[in-house]
Amino acid sequence: MITVEKALEIILAESQDFGVEKIPFMESLGRVLKEHIGADRDFPPFDRVSMDGIAIDYDTYKKGDITFPIESIQAAGAEQLSLKSQQNCIEVMTGAVVPKNVDTVIPYELVEIKDGKAELSTDTIKQGQNIHRKGLDRKQDDLLIKQNTIISSAEIGVLATVGKATVKVAKQPKVMIVSTGDELIEVDKIPLNHQIRRSNVYMLVALLQELKIQADTAHINDDKAILKQKIEGYLLDYDVLLFSGAVSKGKFDFLPEILEELGVKKQFHKVKQRPGKPFWFGAIGPFRINDMKIGNGNHKTTIFAFPGNPVSTFVGCLKYFYPWFRKSIGIQYVNEDHAILSEDFTFQPALTYFLQVRLQNENGRIIGTPVKGKGSGDLANLADADGFLELPADKTEFRKGETFPLIRYRQY
Ligand code: AMP
Ligand code: MG
Repeated sequence: MITVEKALEIILAESQDFGVEKIPFMESLGRVLKEHIGADRDFPPFDRVSMDGIAIDYDTYKKGDITFPIESIQAAGAEQLSLKSQQNCIEVMTGAVVPKNVDTVIPYELVEIKDGKAELSTDTIKQGQNIHRKGLDRKQDDLLIKQNTIISSAEIGVLATVGKATVKVAKQPKVMIVSTGDELIEVDKIPLNHQIRRSNVYMLVALLQELKIQADTAHINDDKAILKQKIEGYLLDYDVLLFSGAVSKGKFDFLPEILEELGVKKQFHKVKQRPGKPFWFGAIGPFRINDMKIGNGNHKTTIFAFPGNPVSTFVGCLKYFYPWFRKSIGIQYVNEDHAILSEDFTFQPALTYFLQVRLQNENGRIIGTPVKGKGSGDLANLADADGFLELPADKTEFRKGETFPLIRYRQY
């Protein structure tokens, strides 16, 4: 059985490129940018008034004038005016172009306006004040956003301002999420005593939505022939298959043998971890299945088959699928989240333990308090916690105050 570290290494080595697509910029939130974004013009693009007030020629003020007849009004969005007489002023609005023949803006707060004249009520005026000079923030063609940036609301604003109505982003993989099991019924049905609703699929769909992936879903009963036939079709149509269930030692856990019969190359089955030990991982392609050429011949399908216990599936997706996906779309992502254990904790088996914790921010220190559930089937416990502390396999005693890697699924 391999370690968690080795499993992740193998998985990351199987990352793949899904290409690039152009989409409307307002659909790009959370996607990964696949072009450099430069300034289309200087920022600001003209000498910009940065306070509502009056604009004067500083030399006139310097000669002793403090009263300036108002000549005109320069509004934002209007073409540049020109001061005709040096003795006068122009009222100017924030965001307007600084008029010609003026060089200093005095805010309304420091001016008294009466009978069409503005009188200064301050004697501390600096030449050039309250003018945001052309190109001060950024020059035309300066790099504003680097390729491979995850687009946040900040980048949306920058894309808008440089006129990028459509942007190049990493294409998302085509993902199929499959649940297995005769005991599972749909969410809107009333279960019989021996049945449960199929929750893992929706949990996985939601986890992928957080990555802006729209996955398809299917359910297959524990019937080997049907499983095999359906999966063969999915291997042709999808870049990724995420399975939940049917990879353990049960009489009806058919997935490992079916996947291998279909020619999927097993990379590993079982990882030294709890929960989620029976995790199966493999890939097929780029080549043919049963002599059928797949797609453009470059098609590859990567298979993450998580054990069906909800906590196993959940942590498996976060620990393994998330980094694989990030690497695939070009993000150099290393999880550097850590949290401090709030109390002593013991875990005997020589397995990496994913400890469910509730998180608290204490003066900038992230504290993780164990949320004791009833094991990997305790789905409700996920809702009580915020993340998992990854406790290393080579220790059994974990002390209060020690820091461990954190996989967080909830921000506060
Ligand atoms: P398995 O990995 O198929 O042996 O399933 C392990 C446990 O997880 C069993 O108790 C299943 O009923 C449960 N389980 C499997 N798949 C799902 C699912 N999609 N939603 C909720 N529970 C599941
Ligand atoms: Mg099952």
